[in-house]
Amino acid sequence: MRKPFIAGNWKMHKTINEATDFGELFVQKLKDEQVDLSKVDVAIFAPYIHMSALKVIFLLRGIDVGAQNMFYEDKGAFTGEISPSMLSDLGIERVIIGHSERRKYFGETSAACARKIKAAYTHDIRPVLCVGEDLEDREAGSHKDAVRKMLLDSLDGVQAVEAEFAAVAYEPLWAIGTGKTATPEQAEEMAALIRSVLAEKYGSKVADDMIIQYGGSVKSTNIAELMAKEDIDGALVGGASLDAAEFAKIVAFDDSVKKESLKQVSVKNVLKKDN
Ligand code: PEP
Repeated sequence: MRKPFIAGNWKMHKTINEATDFGELFVQKLKDEQVDLSKVDVAIFAPYIHMSALKVIFLLRGIDVGAQNMFYEDKGAFTGEISPSMLSDLGIERVIIGHSERRKYFGETSAACARKIKAAYTHDIRPVLCVGEDLEDREAGSHKDAVRKMLLDSLDGVQAVEAEFAAVAYEPLWAIGTGKTATPEQAEEMAALIRSVLAEKYGSKVADDMIIQYGGSVKSTNIAELMAKEDIDGALVGGASLDAAEFAKIVAFDDSVKKESLKQVSVKNVLKKDN
Protein backbone atom coordinates (compact mmCIF):
# COMPACT_ATOMS: atom_id res chain seq x y z
CA MET A 1 0.00 0.00 0.00
CA ARG A 2 1.42 3.35 -1.03
CA LYS A 3 0.92 6.11 1.50
CA PRO A 4 -0.41 9.40 0.07
CA PHE A 5 2.19 12.15 -0.11
CA ILE A 6 0.98 15.75 -0.35
CA ALA A 7 3.70 18.38 -0.67
CA GLY A 8 3.76 22.14 -1.05
CA ASN A 9 6.33 23.89 -3.20
CA TRP A 10 6.59 27.48 -2.03
CA LYS A 11 9.03 28.52 -4.77
CA MET A 12 10.41 32.02 -4.03
CA HIS A 13 7.63 33.20 -1.72
CA LYS A 14 7.22 34.43 1.86
CA THR A 15 9.35 36.32 4.36
CA ILE A 16 10.46 34.53 7.53
CA ASN A 17 7.56 36.08 9.49
CA GLU A 18 5.08 34.98 6.86
CA ALA A 19 6.59 31.49 6.86
CA THR A 20 6.33 31.08 10.64
CA ASP A 21 2.79 32.51 10.70
CA PHE A 22 1.91 29.96 8.01
CA GLY A 23 3.53 27.14 10.02
CA GLU A 24 1.53 27.85 13.18
CA LEU A 25 -1.73 28.32 11.31
CA PHE A 26 -1.16 25.19 9.19
CA VAL A 27 -0.71 23.01 12.29
CA GLN A 28 -4.01 24.40 13.62
CA LYS A 29 -5.83 23.97 10.31
CA LEU A 30 -4.72 20.33 10.02
CA LYS A 31 -6.22 19.76 13.48
CA ASP A 32 -9.44 21.50 12.44
CA GLU A 33 -9.58 19.26 9.37
CA GLN A 34 -9.09 16.20 11.66
CA VAL A 35 -6.12 15.00 9.63
CA ASP A 36 -4.35 11.93 11.02
CA LEU A 37 -0.72 12.59 10.06
CA SER A 38 0.15 8.91 10.37
CA LYS A 39 -2.02 8.27 7.29
CA VAL A 40 -0.58 10.86 4.93
CA ASP A 41 2.94 12.18 4.36
CA VAL A 42 3.04 15.97 4.28
CA ALA A 43 5.96 18.22 3.36
CA ILE A 44 6.62 21.87 2.68
CA PHE A 45 9.44 22.56 0.21
CA ALA A 46 10.47 25.97 1.47
CA PRO A 47 13.17 28.50 0.56
CA TYR A 48 16.44 27.53 2.31
CA ILE A 49 16.34 30.44 4.75
CA HIS A 50 12.93 29.40 6.12
CA MET A 51 13.77 25.76 6.72
CA SER A 52 15.16 25.96 10.29
CA ALA A 53 12.28 28.07 11.58
CA LEU A 54 9.71 25.76 9.99
CA LYS A 55 11.44 22.67 11.35
CA VAL A 56 11.11 24.03 14.89
CA ILE A 57 7.36 24.63 14.41
CA PHE A 58 6.76 21.24 12.80
CA LEU A 59 8.97 19.30 15.24
CA LEU A 60 7.29 16.05 16.33
CA ARG A 61 4.18 17.01 14.39
CA GLY A 62 4.74 14.74 11.40
CA ILE A 63 5.20 17.50 8.82
CA ASP A 64 8.43 17.41 6.80
CA VAL A 65 10.39 20.39 5.58
CA GLY A 66 12.26 19.95 2.32
CA ALA A 67 14.50 21.93 -0.04
CA GLN A 68 13.57 22.99 -3.56
CA ASN A 69 16.97 22.17 -5.03
CA MET A 70 20.52 21.20 -4.08
CA PHE A 71 23.88 20.68 -5.80
CA TYR A 72 25.42 17.22 -6.15
CA GLU A 73 28.88 18.06 -4.79
CA ASP A 74 29.45 18.00 -1.06
CA LYS A 75 31.61 21.11 -0.80
CA GLY A 76 33.89 23.31 -2.85
CA ALA A 77 34.08 26.47 -4.93
CA PHE A 78 30.44 26.52 -6.10
CA THR A 79 29.26 29.99 -5.16
CA GLY A 80 25.60 30.22 -4.28
CA GLU A 81 25.00 26.48 -4.14
CA ILE A 82 23.75 24.34 -1.24
CA SER A 83 25.12 20.83 -0.78
CA PRO A 84 23.39 17.62 0.32
CA SER A 85 25.57 17.46 3.42
CA MET A 86 24.49 20.99 4.39
CA LEU A 87 20.86 19.93 4.07
CA SER A 88 21.30 16.75 6.05
CA ASP A 89 23.21 18.70 8.72
CA LEU A 90 20.02 20.76 9.12
CA GLY A 91 17.93 17.58 9.41
CA ILE A 92 16.39 18.01 5.95
CA GLU A 93 15.23 14.70 4.50
CA ARG A 94 13.53 15.69 1.26
CA VAL A 95 14.49 17.66 -1.84
CA ILE A 96 12.85 18.52 -5.16
CA ILE A 97 15.04 17.64 -8.14
CA GLY A 98 14.54 18.92 -11.69
CA HIS A 99 11.52 21.18 -11.17
CA SER A 100 10.51 22.60 -14.55
CA GLU A 101 11.36 26.13 -13.38
CA ARG A 102 14.89 25.01 -12.59
CA ARG A 103 15.17 23.26 -15.93
CA LYS A 104 13.78 26.30 -17.78
CA TYR A 105 15.37 29.30 -15.99
CA PHE A 106 18.58 27.77 -14.61
CA GLY A 107 19.49 25.31 -17.34
CA GLU A 108 19.19 22.24 -15.12
CA THR A 109 19.70 19.16 -17.28
CA SER A 110 18.42 15.64 -16.79
CA ALA A 111 22.06 14.49 -16.47
CA ALA A 112 22.52 16.88 -13.52
CA CYS A 113 19.27 15.55 -12.02
CA ALA A 114 20.64 11.99 -12.14
CA ARG A 115 23.78 13.09 -10.27
CA LYS A 116 21.66 14.93 -7.70
CA ILE A 117 19.45 11.88 -7.08
CA LYS A 118 22.54 9.74 -6.40
CA ALA A 119 24.00 12.40 -4.11
CA ALA A 120 20.71 12.76 -2.24
CA TYR A 121 20.59 9.02 -1.64
CA THR A 122 24.05 8.97 -0.06
CA HIS A 123 22.84 11.56 2.46
CA ASP A 124 19.48 9.91 3.23
CA ILE A 125 17.61 12.74 1.52
CA ARG A 126 14.55 11.57 -0.41
CA PRO A 127 14.20 13.30 -3.79
CA VAL A 128 11.04 14.19 -5.65
CA LEU A 129 12.03 14.05 -9.31
CA CYS A 130 9.87 16.30 -11.49
CA VAL A 131 9.10 15.40 -15.10
CA GLY A 132 6.52 16.75 -17.53
CA GLU A 133 5.92 17.78 -21.10
CA ASP A 134 5.44 21.30 -22.44
CA LEU A 135 2.40 22.50 -24.37
CA GLU A 136 4.13 21.99 -27.72
CA ASP A 137 4.73 18.29 -26.97
CA ARG A 138 1.18 17.86 -25.70
CA GLU A 139 -0.32 19.46 -28.80
CA ALA A 140 1.94 17.47 -31.12
CA GLY A 141 0.98 14.24 -29.35
CA SER A 142 4.61 13.58 -28.38
CA HIS A 143 4.02 14.07 -24.62
CA LYS A 144 4.51 10.39 -23.76
CA ASP A 145 7.83 10.19 -25.59
CA ALA A 146 8.97 13.47 -24.02
CA VAL A 147 8.17 12.33 -20.49
CA ARG A 148 9.65 8.86 -21.02
CA LYS A 149 12.91 10.44 -22.24
CA MET A 150 13.05 12.99 -19.43
CA LEU A 151 12.44 10.27 -16.86
CA LEU A 152 15.01 7.84 -18.25
CA ASP A 153 17.64 10.56 -18.72
CA SER A 154 17.08 11.85 -15.18
CA LEU A 155 17.53 8.31 -13.83
CA ASP A 156 20.53 7.48 -16.00
CA GLY A 157 22.96 5.48 -13.88
CA VAL A 158 20.61 5.61 -10.89
CA GLN A 159 20.33 2.16 -9.30
CA ALA A 160 17.05 0.58 -8.16
CA VAL A 161 17.98 1.04 -4.51
CA GLU A 162 18.52 4.78 -5.13
CA ALA A 163 15.41 5.19 -7.28
CA GLU A 164 13.03 3.51 -4.86
CA PHE A 165 14.08 6.10 -2.30
CA ALA A 166 12.66 8.78 -4.61
CA ALA A 167 9.19 9.92 -5.64
CA VAL A 168 8.32 11.14 -9.12
CA ALA A 169 6.09 14.16 -9.73
CA TYR A 170 4.34 14.33 -13.08
CA GLU A 171 4.00 18.04 -13.76
CA PRO A 172 2.82 19.04 -17.24
CA LEU A 173 4.32 22.48 -17.85
CA TRP A 174 1.10 23.80 -19.35
CA ALA A 175 -0.66 23.20 -16.02
CA ILE A 176 1.89 24.77 -13.66
CA GLY A 177 0.76 28.10 -12.25
CA THR A 178 -1.71 28.50 -15.12
CA GLY A 179 -4.90 27.55 -13.29
CA LYS A 180 -5.28 24.85 -15.96
CA THR A 181 -5.28 21.36 -14.39
CA ALA A 182 -4.77 18.17 -16.35
CA THR A 183 -7.97 16.14 -16.26
CA PRO A 184 -7.79 13.23 -13.82
CA GLU A 185 -7.75 10.93 -16.88
CA GLN A 186 -4.81 12.77 -18.49
CA ALA A 187 -2.93 12.77 -15.17
CA GLU A 188 -3.61 9.07 -14.60
CA GLU A 189 -2.56 8.15 -18.13
CA MET A 190 0.81 9.81 -17.56
CA ALA A 191 1.25 8.48 -14.00
CA ALA A 192 0.60 4.96 -15.34
CA LEU A 193 3.11 5.55 -18.14
CA ILE A 194 5.71 6.69 -15.59
CA ARG A 195 5.08 3.59 -13.48
CA SER A 196 5.45 1.35 -16.52
CA VAL A 197 8.76 3.00 -17.49
CA LEU A 198 9.97 2.55 -13.90
CA ALA A 199 8.89 -1.11 -14.07
CA GLU A 200 10.83 -1.64 -17.32
CA LYS A 201 13.93 -0.16 -15.75
CA TYR A 202 13.73 -1.42 -12.17
CA GLY A 203 11.16 -4.23 -12.15
CA SER A 204 7.55 -4.12 -11.03
CA LYS A 205 8.25 -4.54 -7.30
CA VAL A 206 10.22 -1.28 -7.18
CA ALA A 207 7.79 0.51 -9.53
CA ASP A 208 4.74 -0.59 -7.54
CA ASP A 209 6.18 0.82 -4.34
CA MET A 210 7.20 4.19 -5.76
CA ILE A 211 5.14 7.28 -5.06
CA ILE A 212 3.95 9.19 -8.12
CA GLN A 213 2.54 12.65 -7.55
CA TYR A 214 0.62 14.91 -9.87
CA GLY A 215 1.41 18.63 -9.93
CA GLY A 216 -0.20 21.48 -11.85
CA SER A 217 -2.82 23.84 -10.40
CA VAL A 218 -3.93 21.40 -7.69
CA LYS A 219 -6.55 22.92 -5.36
CA SER A 220 -8.90 21.70 -2.63
CA THR A 221 -11.63 21.50 -5.27
CA ASN A 222 -9.81 19.08 -7.62
CA ILE A 223 -7.53 17.03 -5.32
CA ALA A 224 -10.06 14.28 -4.50
CA GLU A 225 -10.72 13.33 -8.12
CA LEU A 226 -7.00 13.24 -8.88
CA MET A 227 -6.22 11.15 -5.79
CA ALA A 228 -8.98 8.71 -6.71
CA LYS A 229 -6.89 7.57 -9.67
CA GLU A 230 -4.97 4.33 -9.28
CA ASP A 231 -1.46 5.53 -10.07
CA ILE A 232 -1.67 8.96 -8.46
CA ASP A 233 -0.37 8.74 -4.91
CA GLY A 234 -0.03 12.39 -4.05
CA ALA A 235 0.29 15.96 -5.21
CA LEU A 236 2.99 18.57 -5.56
CA VAL A 237 1.20 21.84 -4.96
CA GLY A 238 2.56 25.27 -5.84
CA GLY A 239 0.31 28.33 -5.51
CA ALA A 240 -2.36 26.70 -3.35
CA SER A 241 0.24 25.60 -0.76
CA LEU A 242 0.92 29.22 0.18
CA ASP A 243 -2.40 29.47 1.99
CA ALA A 244 -2.50 27.44 5.22
CA ALA A 245 -6.27 26.85 5.25
CA GLU A 246 -6.39 25.86 1.58
CA PHE A 247 -3.34 23.59 1.84
CA ALA A 248 -4.77 21.87 4.94
CA LYS A 249 -7.98 21.21 2.96
CA ILE A 250 -5.87 19.66 0.18
CA VAL A 251 -4.10 17.40 2.71
CA ALA A 252 -7.52 16.37 4.07
CA PHE A 253 -8.61 15.31 0.59
CA ASP A 254 -10.92 12.54 1.82
CA ASP A 255 -11.94 10.57 4.89
CA SER A 256 -9.14 8.03 4.46
CA VAL A 257 -6.64 10.51 5.93
CA LYS A 258 -8.87 11.63 8.78
CA LYS A 259 -9.06 10.47 12.36
CA GLU A 260 -11.11 7.34 13.12
CA SER A 261 -13.66 9.28 15.21
CA LEU A 262 -14.49 11.49 12.24
CA LYS A 263 -14.77 8.50 9.92
CA GLN A 264 -17.24 6.84 12.30
CA VAL A 265 -19.33 9.98 12.28
CA SER A 266 -19.41 9.99 8.47
CA VAL A 267 -20.27 6.28 8.32
CA LYS A 268 -23.13 6.96 10.75
CA ASN A 269 -24.33 9.80 8.55
CA VAL A 270 -24.29 7.54 5.50
CA LEU A 271 -26.25 4.85 7.38
CA LYS A 272 -28.74 7.49 8.51
CA LYS A 273 -29.18 8.72 4.94
CA ASP A 274 -29.70 5.15 3.68
CA ASN A 275 -32.48 4.40 6.20
C1 PEP B 1 4.63 23.47 -8.81
O1 PEP B 1 5.22 24.47 -8.48
O2 PEP B 1 5.23 22.40 -8.79
C2 PEP B 1 3.22 23.57 -9.20
C3 PEP B 1 2.60 22.49 -9.57
O3 PEP B 1 2.64 24.82 -9.15
P1 PEP B 1 1.06 25.16 -9.20
O4 PEP B 1 0.37 24.24 -8.22
O5 PEP B 1 0.98 26.59 -8.79
O6 PEP B 1 0.59 24.93 -10.59
